[in-house]
Amino acid sequence: MAFSIAIDGPAGAGKSTIAKALAKRLGFIYVDTGAMYRTMALELLRKGISPEDVPAMEQACQDVEISIAYEEGSQQVYLNGENVSSLIRREEVGNMASVSAANGKIREKLVDLQRQMAARENVVMDGRDIGTCVLPQADVKIYLTASVHTRAMRRYKEYLEKGQKVDLQQIEKDIEKRDYQDMHRDISPLKQAEDAVLLDSSDMGIEEVIDAMIALYEKKKQ
Ligand code: C5P
Repeated sequence: MAFSIAIDGPAGAGKSTIAKALAKRLGFIYVDTGAMYRTMALELLRKGISPEDVPAMEQACQDVEISIAYEEGSQQVYLNGENVSSLIRREEVGNMASVSAANGKIREKLVDLQRQMAARENVVMDGRDIGTCVLPQADVKIYLTASVHTRAMRRYKEYLEKGQKVDLQQIEKDIEKRDYQDMHRDISPLKQAEDAVLLDSSDMGIEEVIDAMIALYEKKKQ
């Protein structure tokens, strides 16, 4: 049986950095489910479809082909055969994803893909609904969070490192808005699963968080 580690939490909590490093240490596959919702959002942005136009959005979801591949251990996401892994990192794509991810048809299609991956491989999967909906039987469940200010500062530094100038207050506002949207939608809202372990990384370093997760994994393996 494949082993699965589910990591959920709000935007900017450090899930992807940590999940990626954890997967590497354990020799597992890292599945970034946010990248799938972002890819769907990129398709909508390219087609000029508004998330309010539900029929057009659901049609686009039906027509689109989203697939995942691994190159040198790193997840690549393909939109109709095109590698869009870097294009989906833009802030506008993340903001659109947070709105379009509330659609049931979009979630159904992507959850199916996520479950197929977890059935085949040992995975560290991160997202918003992994422990509550995608993999309710996950072997280890973690809810990773941090304060809004800490998360905004992390995003801000990431952009500065890439040479992009951004407004810290705007990032804080975007994070608050995304938290609200992710936590208050009808389908699969972001929430801590009852059996998930809460980790608040506001005052923890990356290695410290990873070590805490490895300890949970080892406890479960005993
Ligand atoms: O994690 P990331 O910021 O890349 O995710 C982009 C958006 O996709 C999130 O704001 C969230 O609305 C949505 N998402 C989701 N369920 C997941 C992963 C991401 O609804 N499992």
